[in-house]
Amino acid sequence: MNLILLGPPGAGKGTQSRLVEEKFGLMQLSTGDMLRAAKTSGSDMGKLVAKVMEKGDLVTDEIVIALIAEQLESHPDSKGFIFDGFPRTLAQADSLANLFEKKNQRLDKVIEMRVEDEALIRRVTGRFNCTVCGEVYHKDSKPSKVKNVCDNCRAVDSFIQRSDDNEESFRTRLVNYYRDTSPLIGYYHAKGLLNSIDGLLDINKTQQNILEILGA
Ligand code: ADP
Ligand code: ADP
Ligand code: ZN
Repeated sequence: MNLILLGPPGAGKGTQSRLVEEKFGLMQLSTGDMLRAAKTSGSDMGKLVAKVMEKGDLVTDEIVIALIAEQLESHPDSKGFIFDGFPRTLAQADSLANLFEKKNQRLDKVIEMRVEDEALIRRVTGRFNCTVCGEVYHKDSKPSKVKNVCDNCRAVDSFIQRSDDNEESFRTRLVNYYRDTSPLIGYYHAKGLLNSIDGLLDINKTQQNILEILGA
């Protein structure tokens, strides 16, 4: 099964992908995580994308498509993928369709997570994550059970806030979402793949709604 989670920054795509990944044995592919890893590694590509990401602008289609193609090729035996933060443009969506066609596979479902702007800003500015295992938290809606200790991997003092999770970068990302990414809602609707859910519900309820769409 191949699945896309579509939604604005802070909608909850990463949080839900991780839960679906565990339950279905699918592999999460987050282009944001891949780009951040490239940035941290200090590779040429990482250096190239760092400033663009900081501002909240989109990295070129060429770079992200290459990252996704590489992952699909290097995991031929995966039971399927959950795409989180990809595709973000129509060109990326077309490339993904071509990649699947070449592999004789298909996209099964697209789940659009709807969240209003005011909730998004609260989610993004309160977000932090564990640098050891990647677990994502929120200062109000999902704090760690013990202060400064990761629930998932037990690391101590491993929490960090993303440098682009400030209001200015968020506003740019939101404009980019409405301009470049939201046309994908119509695109996937036309292909009969779109399911939209209320992303304002809490994490558990949202998870249940996603599992229902997936027939679980
Ligand atoms: P969020 O969780 O806020 O939606 P991501 O972690 O998905 O953000 O992405 C962080 C940044 O990485 C984006 O602002 C953008 O600069 C870059 N990026 C991630 N995925 C893509 C993509 N598919 N196309 C272009 N740029 C991307
Ligand atoms: P995205 O990947 O779409 O940018 P995240 O999954 O990183 O979004 O979630 C953004 C922030 O909101 C995180 O701090 C996360 O803990 C929190 N969050 C995720 N889902 C919900 C929810 N349903 N209700 C409240 N907070 C949530
Ligand atoms: Zn951790």
